[in-house]
Amino acid sequence: MKTLEKYITLAAQNHGHMCPGQVLGIRMAMYGLSALGFDDPGKYRKRLLTFVEIDRCATDAVSLVTGCRLGKRSLKFRDYGKVAATFVDLETERAVRIVARDDSREKAKFMFPALSDPHEAQRQAYKVMGNEELFVLQWVRVTLDPADLPGRPRSHVSCESCGEGINDGRERRVEGRILCRPCAGEGYCQEIRDA
Ligand SMILES: [Zn+2]
Ligand SMILES: [Zn+2]
Repeated sequence: MKTLEKYITLAAQNHGHMCPGQVLGIRMAMYGLSALGFDDPGKYRKRLLTFVEIDRCATDAVSLVTGCRLGKRSLKFRDYGKVAATFVDLETERAVRIVARDDSREKAKFMFPALSDPHEAQRQAYKVMGNEELFVLQWVRVTLDPADLPGRPRSHVSCESCGEGINDGRERRVEGRILCRPCAGEGYCQEIRDA
């Protein structure tokens, strides 16, 4: 595992700026990995899968430290709006969920009263606060579907309505037809036909 300062430098490059959320995300991932006994994330890359519960700054840092990425299927997003992440050891099935404490935010604001920039004060505080002050750690069980795991696609079918290909069992069966989720009524966009 790299040092906090090294990760901060890398995270700033990767994320585009340095912010309290980056520091929190780095600390969160370092805490989770050490709880699993993963001293070097690079070495354990194939064994590690991470769930993140928010699509904000901290998540980029969690991804950076763990090496888990959406495109590798090793990063899973659950849209709960919580600054939390669960680190899963695929080999032993041990999993640890780390959630940022809401009261650490308040505490951080008052730790460096000499700093006029509140973000800077929060950032500095997140660097030095203890793990127990910043986070709650829970050992959890995660049930993983084989169709969610990294590796080659488990299946590939075509939607009987739009004809588009669907991987990994994401199709729906509606009245005997194989449909993609949008054609089954679960879409997020509608085509504009006269554009
Ligand atoms: Zn940020
Ligand atoms: Zn379709």
